[in-house]
Amino acid sequence: MYIAIDGPAGAGKSTIAKMLALNLGVNYLDTGAMYRAITLKIVRENISISDEKSLQDLLNNASIELVEPLGANQVLLDGEDVTEEIRDAEVNRWVSQVSRIKLIREAMVKKQRELAMKWGGAVMDGRDIGTCVLTDATFKFYLDASTEERTRRRWQELKDKGKELPWEEVYKTIVDRDNIDQNRSVSPLEVAPGAVVIDTTHLSIEEVMQKVTGYIKENG
Ligand code: C5P
Repeated sequence: MYIAIDGPAGAGKSTIAKMLALNLGVNYLDTGAMYRAITLKIVRENISISDEKSLQDLLNNASIELVEPLGANQVLLDGEDVTEEIRDAEVNRWVSQVSRIKLIREAMVKKQRELAMKWGGAVMDGRDIGTCVLTDATFKFYLDASTEERTRRRWQELKDKGKELPWEEVYKTIVDRDNIDQNRSVSPLEVAPGAVVIDTTHLSIEEVMQKVTGYIKENG
């Protein structure tokens, strides 16, 4: 079974996707983690995102592996565990700029499809899963929430990790990423045809899970 879960940052996609994958006994693929890992490599190697030749060289030499697919994905970049580092503010600032580049998207989408086929099923979360990566997915969900609520969740998540950032800064990063993700020319963030849209603003994780699993049971 292939399930696509798309939506903007902070809508609750990864939590739901992980729980759903465990429930269904299929692998989970965090596609955002792949874009984050390649962004980290670009930042570390100080490559200009307008330099196509260097980007292509970097892609040719980058190894991105997602291990422990049954649960939270551990991310290895060139063999190094970068699971924590890809969530840093620097990567947050750059990831959407990197993700709008066609060359990058083509390489990531190819890898995502290969993994999904190899596994024979997957719950994938991202921005373009239902519209591009898995257009034939068995089920497609689009999770959304108000910008304020998504900022609150992200702010709290960072605080829980000991990083207390000004609310305005977290809000601005979310709005900037939304704008780039929704307005890019290649695979912009949008609701896929046939996707079930769930507004999670006033829902708990359990309530969202009930809606998602209820829909799968009724329509499976
Ligand atoms: O899901 P997450 O917030 O980790 O994704 C980080 C960024 O990666 C997104 O803001 C988006 O720019 C990019 N992304 C994407 N397509 C995906 C997954 C993530 O463009 N399928």
